[in-house]
Amino acid sequence: MENRYPAKGTDWLKALLFPPKCLGCPERVPPDRLFCRECAKGFPREPGRRLIRLGNGLDVPVLTPMDYEGGYRESMLLYKFRGCKIMGPRMGMLMAGLVDGLPGLDWTVTYVPLSPEGLKRRGYDQSRLLALQVGRQRGYEVKRLLEKVKKTKTQHDLGFEERLTNLLGAYRASKEAAGRNILLIDDIVTSGSTLKECASALFSEGARSVCCLCAAGRAYK
Ligand SMILES: [Zn+2]
Repeated sequence: MENRYPAKGTDWLKALLFPPKCLGCPERVPPDRLFCRECAKGFPREPGRRLIRLGNGLDVPVLTPMDYEGGYRESMLLYKFRGCKIMGPRMGMLMAGLVDGLPGLDWTVTYVPLSPEGLKRRGYDQSRLLALQVGRQRGYEVKRLLEKVKKTKTQHDLGFEERLTNLLGAYRASKEAAGRNILLIDDIVTSGSTLKECASALFSEGARSVCCLCAAGRAYK
């Protein structure tokens, strides 16, 4: 994972009005950098990797550019809960860099969708914005292939037993998933149960393969 990316002429112009912020601290950065010099110490950085077991012999890999901690966690909180929509494309840029670590397949990008109520509350679907940027950077088609069909509680507030059943059947995949290699995008991966549900739904509609890319990874406690 790199800190530098090719900025266009318009990015430099836009930066005059809205100087971009480092993804790890409040420092301003040039538009072709995602992190300031201090936060980028130790870059290029190995992405986080884990596997989600679907229980039918299939494992789904999950890649994350950063851990959900420190200043990067603060940026994620701004993005997710305080309306800082502008962080999305920059985090998506960071995620797009991880595609090099995946098999060179013809990927279709999709994302874990918000419920209609969630979308109304936030005003934007944070994972969709990440997905749009990954697709734009890598030249992949972005398609909405999942739908949230059941009301769920926040996993965080639940006990172990409830967590297992809360998300069951919560997502439904479109028939258009059939035969596709799917890059499934989400904001934060913790236990992986949401991704597991979504990946299972995509496979049940005939997806050929599924890999997950998340903006941040958090250890499951
Ligand atoms: Zn910084």
